Order: sequence, then structure tokens, then C-alpha cells
Amino acid sequence: MRPVADRDSAEWWRRTAGGEFVLQRCDSCATPRFPARAYCHRCRTREWHWEPVAPAGRVESWIVSHQPFLAGVSEPYTVVMVRLDEAPECVMYGNWRGAEPPVAGLPVRACFRKVDEELSLIDWRPLG
Ligand SMILES: [Zn+2]
Repeated sequence: MRPVADRDSAEWWRRTAGGEFVLQRCDSCATPRFPARAYCHRCRTREWHWEPVAPAGRVESWIVSHQPFLAGVSEPYTVVMVRLDEAPECVMYGNWRGAEPPVAGLPVRACFRKVDEELSLIDWRPLG
């Protein structure tokens, strides 16, 4: 199943396909947000900009999926939830690319997995 971009996320998917690791940041209160939304959940301001952040974080949680949601992905596979170092308010999901199972609090780095010209996914692997 291919991720479907909506009005708010289309630009994020386009930038990710171009190798950019970005979040939205509110122009009024500077709150970062992910996934993309039309307005700030904290102050309701509609003005915001894309901001590059370090593609790094720590494992918050994970699931091991036995359901084949993505074509070409053999199950079981692990999806991690990562709290971003430069935007601790934000968590991002992605496939796990470590040789060992994830551990809570483990420092990780994002890597782009190019599916085709229009789609790249963000996976996570242990730092170092
Ligand atoms: Zn705001």
C-alpha cells in the first residue's frame, strides 16, 4: 500500500522525495509539528514554514507487524516511533533497519529509502 499524500502532507512528501528532512514550524509561537497540518495545534496560527532539522532522534516505541501493508516488504517487520532530537514535541514513524531489535531510548538516524522518483520513505537505523 502506497502512502497517500493529502493537502497538508503533499509538500512534505515532495520534499522527502528530494532528500530533505523537514518539519513545519509555526511562525507565531515556533512550535514544530509533524505530520503536516494546516494550522498550529498550540496557537491556531495558520502561518508556518518548512524547516530542516537533524534527521536524528531516539527510539520511543515500536511495533512488529505481521501484516503485509507494503508491497515488497516481507513480514514480520518492525516499525519504530522516533522522538526527534531537535523537535522533541514530534515523533516520526519509519521502518527499522537495525540488525538487532530496537531498544527504548536508543539514538537513531534517519535514512531515505527511495521507492521511485516521486516517493521516498524514511527508515531509521541505530547511530554508529
Ligand atoms: Zn503556533
